[in-house]
Amino acid sequence: MAINLLGLDHRGLQALCAGLGEKPYRAKQLMRWIHHAGVDDFGAMTDISRQLREVLARDTTIAAPRVLHDTPAADGTRKWLLDVGTGNAIESVFIPETGRGTLCISSQAGCALECSFCSTGRQGFNRNLSAEEIIGQLWLANRCLRRESADERPISNVVMMGMGEPLANFENVVAAMRIMLDDCGYGLSRRRVTLSTAGLVPGIDRLREECPVALAVSLHAPDDALRDELVPINRKYPIKELFAACVRYIEKAPRDFVTFEYVMLDGVNDSVAQARALARLVKPVPCKINLIPFNPFPGSGYERSGPEAIARFRDVLMQTGLVATVRKTRGEDIAAACGQLAGRVQDRTKRKQRRQEELAT
Ligand code: SAH
Repeated sequence: MAINLLGLDHRGLQALCAGLGEKPYRAKQLMRWIHHAGVDDFGAMTDISRQLREVLARDTTIAAPRVLHDTPAADGTRKWLLDVGTGNAIESVFIPETGRGTLCISSQAGCALECSFCSTGRQGFNRNLSAEEIIGQLWLANRCLRRESADERPISNVVMMGMGEPLANFENVVAAMRIMLDDCGYGLSRRRVTLSTAGLVPGIDRLREECPVALAVSLHAPDDALRDELVPINRKYPIKELFAACVRYIEKAPRDFVTFEYVMLDGVNDSVAQARALARLVKPVPCKINLIPFNPFPGSGYERSGPEAIARFRDVLMQTGLVATVRKTRGEDIAAACGQLAGRVQDRTKRKQRRQEELAT
């Protein structure tokens, strides 16, 4: 199969060029064409020799996942459903705000962690995405948004908060993030790339060594007993170990705090007593807390905390001197909000059905 250049970082492209007897600066040129210019046609790469272009066109490809659906929400949020083969679909979401545009990227088809309130977790784990499938989401969204507006840099921030646990697909996620950070790639600063994890402690330590970016941790509970239930990976890496890893991470990270995400579940984790317990718990870790109103999905069994409960919870945290914000719910009408990404399993079965019907005729 042809090598897909989309997933190669600078070093990977250099190795490829060296193998073809080309100078290392060709890697930079290629990277700029692919990621700056968004080009997938070797013929357009005018500063590269015709001979090399022909070899590349013969032996390699530049291919992002196929777009199955492109859905705009009433609030400007936009969701792409992408085909990653063998009946798997993933989703990316663009969230425009004044002064910045954030792309939320998936790292796996499905997820193995089974957090009880997450729709992706309910569908089970299918497979890790390759580096080209991860960076391909940014490549596609960038190309699409630039075609539609005069904005040269529509995407200023990336959050690894789509489907999947990014630290469980470490190598491919880091390869993709290196392209995001590279000046010849997307040139994003480490502060503008955020990785969110359910708390894989060895992965946090490895990230700190290999590719430190802004870190968000899905905490969701003020004690181990409740966290064991909501985020089952807590049984393996309990809060104390998780916090120690967060403190180690901050020593090397581009930001001097971690963000703790806390989903607001009505009657489960949203009482005043739990807010006080949370404030006490997080004291040893320099952090900000981001409260996420629960986004419902069919059969979840949970309900979103009311606005008063959320405001009260935030006030209790702030009274202890913590910085706490409430995440604005975006793209709810197109099931693009946190925890609602499921890659539309129904569509897949329908496609399968159609294919079988086609084969039968
Ligand atoms: N696996 C990673 C990243 C993916 S989820 C992680 O766990 O951090 C991004 C955020 O959305 C996480 O904080 C996750 O817990 C939260 N989330 C999941 N389901 C949700 C739901 N139904 N409503 C609101 N937030 C949810």
